[in-house]
Amino acid sequence: MFWDEKIEMMERGALEALQLKRLQATVRRVARKVPRYQQKLAESRVQPRDIRSLADVHRLPFTTNADLRETYPTGLLAVPKDDTLRLHTSSGTTGKPKALFFSAKDVDNAAELIARCLVMTGVTKRDVLQNMMTYGLFTGALVMHYGAEKVGCLVIPAGPGNSEKQLLLMQDFRTTVIHVTPSYALYLADFLEKKGVDPRRDLALRKAFVGAEPYTEETRRKIEQALGIDVYNSYGLSEMNGPGVAFECEHKCGMHLWEDNYLLEIVDPKTGEPLPDGQTGELVLTTLCREAMPLLRYRSRDITSIIPGPCPCARTHRRLHRITGRADDMLTVRGVNIYPQQIERVLMSLPAVGRNYQIVLEGLDEMTVNVELAEAGFDGHVEHLTRLQSEIADRLRAETLTKPKVHLVPPGTLPVSEGKAKRVIDNRSL
Ligand code: ADP
Ligand code: ZN
Repeated sequence: MFWDEKIEMMERGALEALQLKRLQATVRRVARKVPRYQQKLAESRVQPRDIRSLADVHRLPFTTNADLRETYPTGLLAVPKDDTLRLHTSSGTTGKPKALFFSAKDVDNAAELIARCLVMTGVTKRDVLQNMMTYGLFTGALVMHYGAEKVGCLVIPAGPGNSEKQLLLMQDFRTTVIHVTPSYALYLADFLEKKGVDPRRDLALRKAFVGAEPYTEETRRKIEQALGIDVYNSYGLSEMNGPGVAFECEHKCGMHLWEDNYLLEIVDPKTGEPLPDGQTGELVLTTLCREAMPLLRYRSRDITSIIPGPCPCARTHRRLHRITGRADDMLTVRGVNIYPQQIERVLMSLPAVGRNYQIVLEGLDEMTVNVELAEAGFDGHVEHLTRLQSEIADRLRAETLTKPKVHLVPPGTLPVSEGKAKRVIDNRSL
């Protein structure tokens, strides 16, 4: 099913011609309107007329978080302030937030892209979408909300947390789709289990759009099994409008990135050099349709690769592999580089392990992994716990080549955050 079949199925040659036209227009606009880009283009010794083919994108300067922070609040606007309609911010981790502005056209366009994503998974106006993302400055909830309304769904702006209320809403309004972070989806699954609610029997849930933080295939399966639904990976970032940048189709094999709206590159995170399809690196995106705040070659810090070859759905927009984390998430423990996702992959593949975990780094370089047991994970035999503990430790050692300590804790005892999960606590004295 298609929301915009003409664009979604556009033949590659035509799609690339459209991208080039939009890229050229974007470069011309920022060169005229945005002093920061005038300066950056001059430093890179490139002018709008130098962009003659898509490959010329490599001549353009990157935009980094520093550019967004240093021009905060309005320095990257390409339209008069009166022509902006909405402000979102992205928290990042340190310092000032990044301000992202939308014009009326940008708000509508972001909703259009979400509509494509939803319809691609089979959503129709008969669906009831319960939006469990945080409403507010964060793009996650509002952008999805507008897109789902465009499709004609009944949208329930539930926000995250308050699981009793979520359950009541799901029951009373026969919610069919939820939009949720992976950590809250796992928490909700636990909550329903404790309440004795069997989602397959007692609820109308069919799908979940899960994103905003990295998660693994194992976690996807865990959520699907616990809730009896299909989970579709949903990727976006505030700098690129929020959700709706890349999304899985019904085949659930990588996320189609809407290439008529975003020019996609994968670069080596260290050198910035472009990498070919199939190789893993940092995702770099250029907005092709953004009016209020166009960005050239934005360094997302997200690590992924392009999946080569066509998708069974025949959409022509290329697919991204699941994001394995941010370049900044990488931990170095005793000289070894580890992504939290590696640990999650091990934990979520074990049925006796519950749905929450935490990585704690302390002292000189001690790593402890706190692991919640599944509700049915403890049968009262201490030797079973000891065996599980050493099995987890062995598997983590094989996966990460380090020797983390494993600490088993009862279900529901690790902290749960309402927004994005905080998986790593780094108290190292180094
Ligand atoms: P921040 O988290 O910096 O405040 P955003 O709210 O814009 O910013 O979140 C965007 C980031 O969330 C992405 O850059 C990416 O790291 C992460 N993210 C979003 N969706 C996914 C997903 N499906 N898989 C992995 N990571 C995701
Ligand atoms: Zn597809």
